[in-house]
Amino acid sequence: MAKVSPARGMRDHLPAALRRRRYVFSLVEEVFQLFGYEPLETPALERIEVLQGKYGAETEKLGFKILKRGAGAETGQCDMGLRYDLTVPLARFIASHPELAMPFRRYQIAPVWRAERPQRGRYREFYQCDVDSIGSASLSADAECVVVADLALKALGFDDYDVVINHRQLLRAIADAAGVADREHELLIAIDKLDKIGREGVSAELESRGFPAEAVSSLWDVLGSAESDETAEDAMARLEQILPEPGPKAIAELRQLLVHVDALGGDLESVRFDPVLARGADYYTGPVFEIQLRGGGMGSLGGGGRYDGLIGLLGGRDLPAVGVSLGIERILVLMEEREMFPELPGVAEVYVAAIADEAINHALHVAGLFRSAGVPTVASDSALRVKKVFKHAERVGAKFVVMIGTDEVASAEVSVKRLSDGKQWRLPFTDAVQVVLED
Ligand code: AMP
Repeated sequence: MAKVSPARGMRDHLPAALRRRRYVFSLVEEVFQLFGYEPLETPALERIEVLQGKYGAETEKLGFKILKRGAGAETGQCDMGLRYDLTVPLARFIASHPELAMPFRRYQIAPVWRAERPQRGRYREFYQCDVDSIGSASLSADAECVVVADLALKALGFDDYDVVINHRQLLRAIADAAGVADREHELLIAIDKLDKIGREGVSAELESRGFPAEAVSSLWDVLGSAESDETAEDAMARLEQILPEPGPKAIAELRQLLVHVDALGGDLESVRFDPVLARGADYYTGPVFEIQLRGGGMGSLGGGGRYDGLIGLLGGRDLPAVGVSLGIERILVLMEEREMFPELPGVAEVYVAAIADEAINHALHVAGLFRSAGVPTVASDSALRVKKVFKHAERVGAKFVVMIGTDEVASAEVSVKRLSDGKQWRLPFTDAVQVVLED
């Protein structure tokens, strides 16, 4: 017999959890809309050549590929893949629409797929919530991404995170200063693992890749005191002094970004500079950001940055672009663990039950009256014992129970009970609707 559990890393979203999930999506979407981003939907599947060569070899291994079908099935070739994020599909969309007016600012809340090892807050199918600005080279667009992510997290009730910022060109200058300018990419991939494997792990990885020991120690010299009590401003000032270009230019851009964050009304307290922040994807070219919990314990809650070359790489105009993605799954896990959800309305406000066989059609009719008045209502499918009525009402989250038995049928009335305080009424059908509407 076939296994009936979902495939590895995939999940069914049960009704109660799905209500909480939608509540979170709606708050995030409200923030996106407050900044005037437009909604966009792109397909789950992309042509394989769109996806390949954009993220970097390490991450690319995690992409799900689709085998050719029909006549092509025998070849074993693949021609499509499931999207790995929402950024590359967006860049593909922009490249294919040269008529779009710039800047184009869109949001998208949709699932993406990665063949990662599943663990807490890490799945193979997960939602991302992205905002991106295409066609703007201004650092105010980067700052807006930082502020949007910050406001979305605040709207959900978080206050113990940092939006960590860095600049890809700073990493370039650091590679240069360490004498490994031509191996910047490998350096970046190793540094990206700092969180997981620590300094020793990164050093070991660099040495196993054949980096000279002096380059590795020079790297820690440059980054060294930045990990101490040094303030962000001191670290920036120090790196500005010791790094070759484009280091100082990158620092100037980060300072500008912070000025814009402040002007946008963002919270500078939650923004932190960290020169080792790498961000995995290959396509970043400028400022990068990542949301990290202050106490750690759960990968990043979101991330993004500037990717000025990606649209050109996909064959489009050379357009600057910047975006941020909220890792909503981890946010949901934390909100669940921390009991941050308010009480959310159930699926129905009213549960109408027949408690005698001859009342069934009356119950269906009364349920119709509530629905016509716009009140979400569930009706029993058969006559129930009173105890069962309340169990069913609780399951749908109803606030009122409406019961119809032999007596009520005879008098064309219903018994109404408000569950919050137990108050009861015996009323004609239409008056019952009024009682609920006025509550
Ligand atoms: P990325 O596209 O890799 O920059 O990821 C953006 C955000 O998506 C991250 O900050 C995570 O919060 C989230 N994320 C990445 N991978 C996973 C995963 N496998 N499961 C759940 N969330 C993820």
